[in-house]
Amino acid sequence: MKHQLLYMVTCALVLGCLAWSCRNDKGIKKVEADSSAEVECTSPHCRLLIQPYGDFSNVRAQKVADELQKNLATYVKELAVTEVRVLPAKPLTEDLMNDAKTRYRADNILDKQASLQSQKGDVIIGLTDCDISTDAHGYDDWGILGLSYTGKSNCVISTFRVKDKTQFWKVVLHEFGHSFLGLNHCPNNDPQCFMVDCNGKPDLAKEKYLCEACSKSIRL
Ligand SMILES: [Zn+2]
Ligand SMILES: [Zn+2]
Repeated sequence: MKHQLLYMVTCALVLGCLAWSCRNDKGIKKVEADSSAEVECTSPHCRLLIQPYGDFSNVRAQKVADELQKNLATYVKELAVTEVRVLPAKPLTEDLMNDAKTRYRADNILDKQASLQSQKGDVIIGLTDCDISTDAHGYDDWGILGLSYTGKSNCVISTFRVKDKTQFWKVVLHEFGHSFLGLNHCPNNDPQCFMVDCNGKPDLAKEKYLCEACSKSIRL
């Protein structure tokens, strides 16, 4: 009985020590995890919030997001995508249209979807099959592929003017370049650079890379 009691006390002490050392280990690990999390927070990162409109299905939106993520890993290696979230599709309402009610104003869409940003590093990417427009090239209502304001992390892209839909990801990457990477149009006007200004005549098949000048201009 005495031996049994001694054995139980010893076991309790050993278990107690093990439990303490586990807590201690976890404590140390927590500090390490916290400090690495801090490193992650200060390193360039973003969260992609994909907002499909109308008949643009969530499956297609997810495909666009996957393609963007893959190409960012290739062309903007220093950027980490921490999360991709495809939001439930929303209708494009009549109040977002131009006066002639023929197209949706991209600037109206951007204004509306800006409220979806909830934390630093959020990039809102609106996707639609409808024709979108803005004031550009001296016209009040110029049909466009996509629109974003530089550095605002908010863009909208339309498939409407993209003939070869397999090239659509290049438009998405282009708008992401304006909105999150702080890029203007390609200073070299390089037809092979994703950031080239298509001036209403996109030749997406030619675009193959982010040129050196554009890569160097990335602001993260
Ligand atoms: Zn370029
Ligand atoms: Zn552009």
